[in-house]
Amino acid sequence: MTEHRLLLCTDMDRTVIPNGEQPEHPQARPRFSDFCKQPEVTLAYVTGRHQQLVKQAITDYQLPEPAFAITDVGSKIYQIVENNWLELESWEKHIDNDWNGNNHQQLQHLLNDVPHLSLQEPSKQNTHKLSYYLPLHVDQNSVIEQMEKRLKAKDIDASLIWSIDEPNDIGLLDVLPRNATKLHAIEFLQQHLGYRHNEVIFAGDSGNDLPVLGSSVASVLVANASDEIKQAAQQLAENNGYADALFLATETGLNMNGNYSAGVLEGVWHFAPNFRDKL
Ligand SMILES: [Mg+2]
Repeated sequence: MTEHRLLLCTDMDRTVIPNGEQPEHPQARPRFSDFCKQPEVTLAYVTGRHQQLVKQAITDYQLPEPAFAITDVGSKIYQIVENNWLELESWEKHIDNDWNGNNHQQLQHLLNDVPHLSLQEPSKQNTHKLSYYLPLHVDQNSVIEQMEKRLKAKDIDASLIWSIDEPNDIGLLDVLPRNATKLHAIEFLQQHLGYRHNEVIFAGDSGNDLPVLGSSVASVLVANASDEIKQAAQQLAENNGYADALFLATETGLNMNGNYSAGVLEGVWHFAPNFRDKL
């Protein structure tokens, strides 16, 4: 990467929010905030959280204000202008076709009696996101298989995204339009802003980050990610032919510990040499 501007896209929970088991280095978040203040850096949060919970996290954890927020696992994109969150309607239109004319309620009806699924709270649902809880002792793959069969029969083009809510010890399963993923949303935002491919860096830590971590987007996996995710991300990146676009943060990088935002900054150091003197 030899460019002088950067679209820094980062997951929130356990990536810049230090809400995992591993310790956060005391300098990590202050350095991350200072880095993001530079005019050459455009910060976008990419998260499963909805708008209100993103704002809550920014306040609770003193995180830098973003220029953009890709929320609800990619089903919404907001531009933030002087504290106003403006929804990108072009994104909404882009993903609307995938559900083949079915709305949230119709999809819910279709998946109603799949065993073990329980609907998440209304605040976690939106026009293009149907979200369930699934207990961790249940084999998620067999549940996903049953859901896929039903969706396919109705010609619905959906992505089923599995992740784990560690603090609450429960599985999360999101049904989204096929194109409403973190990866497609990042690519859409990049094009929308006219950024080149080598001006984008992504950081993440868990299951719903995998499609980006294994893609051609320059991506860093923070050091606090589980060994299982590290292996899965490396395997996926290799299979897709993008092993060079994945970087695993280390325990010694930038004299911090590679966890959370320290790992994000280490990814910038790795992929964007022009920004090294700004870290
Ligand atoms: Mg995360």
